[in-house]
Amino acid sequence: MPQVDTQSWDVVVVGAGGAGLRAAIEAREQGMRCAVICKSLFGKAHTVMAEGGIAASMGNVNQRDNWQVHFRDTMRGGKFLNNWRMAELHAQEAPDRVWELEAWGAVFDRTASGLISQRNFGGHEYPRLAHVGDRTGLELIRTLQQKIVSLQQEDEEEYGDHEARLKVFQECTVTRVLKTAGDRVAGVFGYERESGRFFVIEAPAVVLATGGIGKSFKVTSNSWEYTGDGHALALLAGARLVNMEFVQFHPTGMVWPPSVKGILVTESVRGDGGVLRNSEGKRFMFDYIPDVFREKYAESEDEGDRWYTDPDHNRRPPELLPRDEVARAINAEVKAGRGSPHGGVFLDVSTRMPAEEIRRKLPSMHHQFKELADVDITAEPMEVGPTCHYVMGGVEVDPDTAAAAGVPGLFAAGEVAGGMHGSNRLGGNSLSDLLVFGRRAGLYAARYAAALEAAARPAASPADIELAEAEALRPFGAEGGAESRGAAENPYTLHQELQQSMSDLVGIIRKEGEMQQALRGLAGLRARARRAGVEGHRQFNPGWHLALDLRNMLLVSECVARAALERTESRGGHTRDDHPAMDRQWRRVNLVCRLADESAEPAVTDSALGLVRLERRETPPLRADLLALFEKEELAKYLTDEELTS
Ligand code: FAD
Repeated sequence: MPQVDTQSWDVVVVGAGGAGLRAAIEAREQGMRCAVICKSLFGKAHTVMAEGGIAASMGNVNQRDNWQVHFRDTMRGGKFLNNWRMAELHAQEAPDRVWELEAWGAVFDRTASGLISQRNFGGHEYPRLAHVGDRTGLELIRTLQQKIVSLQQEDEEEYGDHEARLKVFQECTVTRVLKTAGDRVAGVFGYERESGRFFVIEAPAVVLATGGIGKSFKVTSNSWEYTGDGHALALLAGARLVNMEFVQFHPTGMVWPPSVKGILVTESVRGDGGVLRNSEGKRFMFDYIPDVFREKYAESEDEGDRWYTDPDHNRRPPELLPRDEVARAINAEVKAGRGSPHGGVFLDVSTRMPAEEIRRKLPSMHHQFKELADVDITAEPMEVGPTCHYVMGGVEVDPDTAAAAGVPGLFAAGEVAGGMHGSNRLGGNSLSDLLVFGRRAGLYAARYAAALEAAARPAASPADIELAEAEALRPFGAEGGAESRGAAENPYTLHQELQQSMSDLVGIIRKEGEMQQALRGLAGLRARARRAGVEGHRQFNPGWHLALDLRNMLLVSECVARAALERTESRGGHTRDDHPAMDRQWRRVNLVCRLADESAEPAVTDSALGLVRLERRETPPLRADLLALFEKEELAKYLTDEELTS
């Protein structure tokens, strides 16, 4: 029997970003004892980096906004591949989640009449993003943390222990979801990053809220935590990932200096009037309006400019097209030799707003460019280019309950969950997604746990815990001894090669031959990753942490490459050079990844063969009342003739 510290809770939430914290608050409010585990310090999750705002159709700036318009925009942005029930729930519930945040103490920017201010963003018909300058994520996390502290204070009064029903385990990494022989969730296995000590937390319900996968790519806006852990944990537990080919390349990341390449330049810069120009000074986005969006966007610079002050009688400028369109346009301009000196294009706000207003509305951007690139954005343009930003694909979940398909007791919410955003996410729709589905995941995880009789609580098998421990120790040569250490691979080298390969071969523009090459490369990297070796001890050892994260990045990268190879069309975040058109038949198809050998124990998950099996699954037809929200002409661009006539 392994000697591992073990605790018992009702619900375990893996991840302390917006989705995880909202889930934990809900589970605790339902009376459950809830443990939250996070890799970084509490409060340092990725959500903190969110800049532009939370999308919710409160109608504070334009009263014509409502959930139906938000739903329509979200479906258009995702090119109709969204799980429509998720998009519906999201649009309906987002305003309540924002008002709830305000009630819990969030201090949003205000309109002149004192309402929560809302700003324009790409793909949103009306100003819809509730914001706090360009530091919205910070306020969101601060508010959720404050709510958690207030719940803990209640528990202090009631039980004399502030962590009696809600406890955060920070700087801990989960490496396995544990299950019973009967395939129910039984808890998680992980390690403390500082001490290297292993732990088990037993719980009948586990909510994955681990965020995205950006660290598999070389240029990314994502932080070190985004190694696809939750995606991999779900796969390894027997769950499925849906539509992993859809990776969002945000059009505007910094391109210079090299040390900060990829850091995000918020879309608010364009929402607040910033324009994109090429090296010839041309506002090139007017040349890139696709047919499906043509009637919704301005035809001339004059019309686009008038829209900022008179949106009811003018159409929006094409700088505010959905992100996939803008990223492809920038990529094409640079390829055509009309890029900026450092391989991007120019984003200019300095000629569009007074300096004082720029400093007030975009304080972080002003600071970021001044400090990192010595560029004063109130006086000169920024240089920007695409950066890997967000993954639309993720754990296949039930839209109402956030339960992961096929694994009783497993739930997923936030960026790790798939479906909601279809083939492309609109800016601002992630923060609202975290709150809407974080709450739902917490609620249904709590109900699931509460429904189990105490005696029927699932228990993890000691053998599985031993295997999880052996897997985690392998980089120290625990399995192969001195012989395997002799041939040890450096985890940092493997990571760099993975990032290079994914960026070059499965990046913003994709081709069949290159993706096949990537898959061969991934098989080689996986075999080498088995020999990833580290020196020293388990006490804070970043090389060891990376060696363990590699399993997740390789698994998730294989899902992305396999699905991208299979989908022979271009849609949203997936662009095929060899299949440039969107194909209405493909809209009916979800690509679903599962582990090839579902009985895979930790010790056998490094097969030299591909680990992932890919299936095509037909998308469920849109409900009639939701279809009726669109004009027939518009639907004809996305739906097949058969669907339109049925
Ligand atoms: P996160 O906030 O990333 O939290 C993930 C948590 O999981 C972390 O606590 C992490 O430590 C933990 N974790 C991960 N793996 C493990 C493991 N193995 N064990 C234990 N813990 C683990 N979206 C918007 O809607 N509006 C915006 O304005 C906006 N701006 C953005 C700006 C930037 C620079 C970036 C990068 C993204 C932005 N986004 C925005 C996207 C949005 O911020 C993210 O999609 C969202 O915050 C993800 O939240 P989450 O709760 O799913 O994950």
